[in-house]
Order: sequence, then structure tokens, then C-alpha cells
Amino acid sequence: MFNKILVANRGEIAMRIIRACRELNIATVAIYAECDATAIYVKKANEAYLVGPGPVEGFLDARQIVNVARRVGADAIHPGYGFLSENAEFAHLCRETGITFIGPTPEALELLGNKVQARKLAKTIGVPVVPGTDGPVQTLEEGLKFSRSVGYPVIVKASAGGGGRGLRVVHSDEDLHEAMESGAREALAAFGNADLFIEKYIERPHHVEFQLLADKDGYVVHLGERDCSIQRRHQKIIEIAPSLILTPRLRAQMGEIAISLARAAKFHNAGTIEFLVDQEGQYYFIEMNPRIQVEHTVTEQITTIDIVQSQIWIAAGRPLVFGQHEVNLQGYAIQCRINAEDPQNGFRPSTGKITAYLSPGGIGVRIDGVVYKDYTVPPYYDALLTKMTVQGRTWDETVRRTHRSLEEFLLRGVKTTIPFMMKIMAEPDFRAGRFDTSYLDTHPELYEYEHELGAEDLVVALSATIAAYEGL
Ligand code: ADP
Ligand code: ADP
Ligand code: MG
Repeated sequence: MFNKILVANRGEIAMRIIRACRELNIATVAIYAECDATAIYVKKANEAYLVGPGPVEGFLDARQIVNVARRVGADAIHPGYGFLSENAEFAHLCRETGITFIGPTPEALELLGNKVQARKLAKTIGVPVVPGTDGPVQTLEEGLKFSRSVGYPVIVKASAGGGGRGLRVVHSDEDLHEAMESGAREALAAFGNADLFIEKYIERPHHVEFQLLADKDGYVVHLGERDCSIQRRHQKIIEIAPSLILTPRLRAQMGEIAISLARAAKFHNAGTIEFLVDQEGQYYFIEMNPRIQVEHTVTEQITTIDIVQSQIWIAAGRPLVFGQHEVNLQGYAIQCRINAEDPQNGFRPSTGKITAYLSPGGIGVRIDGVVYKDYTVPPYYDALLTKMTVQGRTWDETVRRTHRSLEEFLLRGVKTTIPFMMKIMAEPDFRAGRFDTSYLDTHPELYEYEHELGAEDLVVALSATIAAYEGL
């Protein structure tokens, strides 16, 4: 087993990895930028090193990170998600330096980092994919020809895309030109690769993804699925396990397919196979994410399997210690992404100092976060502050408990998505399990609500609470 792991990430996922390491008695090394010098994950790691020059650059500088790892004697690097987690060159560099990259091989990353190649692989082993172009679309004529043949709407995607970026839904010949031009520009800027492909746009699908664990001996299990249909601009904001629309039979079938795809890609470590399920219940592979995902917590809660520890064990060469039949799904879990964004203002990022913080508690509540009073939320990163994962025995209980926990959540100083999440938990369609990826677009009322309590109301409320306690 490893003695020391460098965590090449920040924020909540760095904290998550440090927690896993502590339980395994592995020392941790954090890296951070100046703006994060007082961040919790920096304090909780055994050692921490400043990387630069800028707030983001240090996390993307493979050479610098590997050098830090070497200097401090780390024998493995956990990349988390985002940043270098899917970067094949980084995995290569780790390999060359004799440091274990906690993730798949560079070869698998290269294959899966390209959606066109991943689709091709899926097709060759008979996995249904969304009807789409076989390769990157080079010209407008090619794009028009494909789009007319399957019929609009279509969706233009970046081959190297991720994180909901660079996707464009197109409804007519006229709009395709602009979508392809701006799509290529955005893809080049964001992913360093301008290649685009086109898929038929599936109307009102569910996003259903399977969590996999695969060891280096080629043994693969799935940990069931997550429903991530509640999305804003193709980005997940609430994730649920298990999906309310899968029968045990469909679960077994899709899980088996996900496993065969991982095997075909010679994949090991933790990964996710994403599918869309249409209104008729037909499923289509869309992509594989060869890394830990933000929403892994809901799967951990309903399976009691620690996915991050599993990643570390697998990277260290240990075979999986449980079989498929030992994976049991218990109850339901819902994760809310508490983002520092203002839902009443187009979800504009909100930064600044946290002036009050008290996380919810009680039965079934899990918090993965980095927030504390006086922490300053830096403006340079993803807006994710804290994840609240709530579990219950039934769907109804889980929704009610999530609502209660959001109500309890005290987080002031920056705007957050908490009030927006509360609206969703109270909304009848959501409560009844009637939602697909069009949910937020078809429920505009979720964006209208009363203002949150102001700071003054808060002081009054807190004083009243303290007074009540002191009176006991
Ligand atoms: P998904 O890729 O399915 O949205 P996550 O929500 O777990 O999965 O993604 C984690 C985060 O990592 C995203 O919110 C985004 O900020 C970042 N991310 C993922 N893929 C990429 C990518 N290819 N390029 C840049 N950032 C990415
Ligand atoms: P990313 O790599 O950015 O996560 P995905 O290919 O996983 O991109 O797609 C992200 C989301 O965009 C999906 O969860 C779904 O909501 C929507 N989407 C992607 N492809 C299609 C499609 N062919 N039809 C309808 N919606 C799609
Ligand atoms: Mg995706």
C-alpha cells in the first residue's frame, strides 16, 4: 500500500480524498494556490505546497505537480475530477517518474477522452449509441447531410468535451452553421481540440449513469446507477440513486453492458458509463468518465462502498474484494450541489467571505464541503462549495428529509443554490418522481421566489436562539 499520496486538486474533492487516506493511514500532500492558503483541505493534509504561478495554472502544470510529488516522496497521485484527471499526458508522466496515477492507464484515458472513439468502441461491441456521425464533422455540408437524414433537432458536441461545455442544440439548417463555428471555437479554447461531432437530439430523456469499479486483473463490478436528469444547461445540479425509472431487469442489463464496455476499453479504477434513456425506455450510451465524479456520494450512501478508498486499493494493485452479487442497493440518496451562485441572477457566481455557517445534521445527512465561517470563496474556480447528500428508506422520505436539511442549512455571505434546491424539493412533479432532463426548462416557477433572509434577520434569529438556550 502507498505511504504518501499527493492530492492534485482542491476544494471538496481534495477533502474527500484526504479523508479516505486518513482512514487507510496514508499520509497526504496538498497543493494550493495563494488564494486558498487558509482552505480546510490545506490544513487537513499532512503537508501542503504552494503551486503557481496563478490560481489555476498550478493545478494544470503536470511537470510541477510531479516534481512536488517526487521531492516529498509521494508514491501516488490522486487527480480528483476536472483539472488533470483525464489528462493522458499527465498519467504518462506519472508512469515515467515511477509515481502511481490513481486512475486508468494513459492509453485508456486517451481512448475515452475522445467521445467519437468511445462511441466507435461501444458500437463495435453492440452497445446502442445515440444516432450520430461516425467521426468528427469537417464541413457544414457533412453536418447538414447528417442532420437532415436523422431530422432536427440535433446536438453538436465537442469530441474532447466535458463538464457540460461546448454542447449546442440545433433546430434548423440555418442554425447549424453558427453552432458549428462557435462550437469549434469554444472546443478549441476549452479542450485544445476543435473536433466536433453531431448526434440526434433525444427529446426529454433521463440521464442514467452506471458507477463501475474495475481492478487491474480485469474484474469489473457496477455499483448501480444514478439519475442525473436535473440539469441546468447540461450540467448536473441534483443527483439521485437509484433511478426511479429502472426496473431491476433493466438495471441488470444496463449494468452488464457498462461492464462489457469497461472491459473492452481495458479500463481499471473507478469510472462511470453515461446513458440517455428515452421516453420509450430505450437506452443509448453517450460517454464514459474515467475518474471519480462529483456525484459518487449518492452511490456510496446506498451501497456503503467507499469508492475513493476502492480507487486507492485498485491503484495499489489489490483485486476487488467483493463480487457483483454482494453489491446491494439500500434506499435512496439525493445529492444537492450547493454552489456559490445566485439563482435569482442567472446563477451568476457569487464570491466573498462566509459570514455565518452551520451545516444541517441528523439522520441520513452527509456533508462534503470546505466551508467555514470567515472562509473567503475565491472567484477562480468552479462554484461548487459543498455537497449535501441525504438518504432515506423511500423516495418520499428522502425528498422530505432533503427539504428539511436544506431548511436547516445556514450559509451566509455569498449567494447559494440552497433556496433553489428547496423549491425543487417542494415541487409536485419532482416529489412524484416525474422529471427528465427538460425539468428545469419546463418549470420556470422554480426561478421565482421570495428573497432570502437578510443578514439582519439572521442576527435577530441567532440571538433569539442563543437566548433560548441560555434560558434552559
Ligand atoms: P460530468 O463530466 O459528467 O459533468 P462531473 O460533474 O463529475 O461530471 O464533472 C466534474 C467537474 O469537472 C465539472 O463540473 C467540470 O468543472 C469539470 N470537468 C469535467 N470534465 C471536464 C473537461 N473535459 N474539461 C474541463 N473541465 C471538466
Ligand atoms: P459532457 O461530457 O459535457 O458531460 P455529455 O455527452 O455527457 O457531455 O452530455 C451532457 C448532457 O447533455 C446529458 O446529460 C444530456 O442532458 C445532454 N445531452 C447530451 N447528448 C444528448 C443527446 N444526444 N440528446 C439529448 N440530450 C443530450
Ligand atoms: Mg457527461
